[in-house]
Amino acid sequence: MTLAARHFWLPVADDSHGYGLTRHAFRGRRADAGSAEPAHCGEVFALATPSEMDWICAPTCQTCNDTLKSGYAD
Ligand SMILES: [Zn+2]
Repeated sequence: MTLAARHFWLPVADDSHGYGLTRHAFRGRRADAGSAEPAHCGEVFALATPSEMDWICAPTCQTCNDTLKSGYAD
């Protein structure tokens, strides 16, 4: 299995950044995820289907990024 199969990125509603959406990393696969999941940064977010603009505009969560880069994999 590749590391990519263990998590997925998704823009979710998050007011901590200017756009109102932030791209967080979640465990598992999008197809298996429920309506709300804990991200790798430790916060729980409601999952919705993002628009194409959301993917383009939402900034990446630095904490999720650092957690994945540091080799953490559940
Ligand atoms: Zn995050």
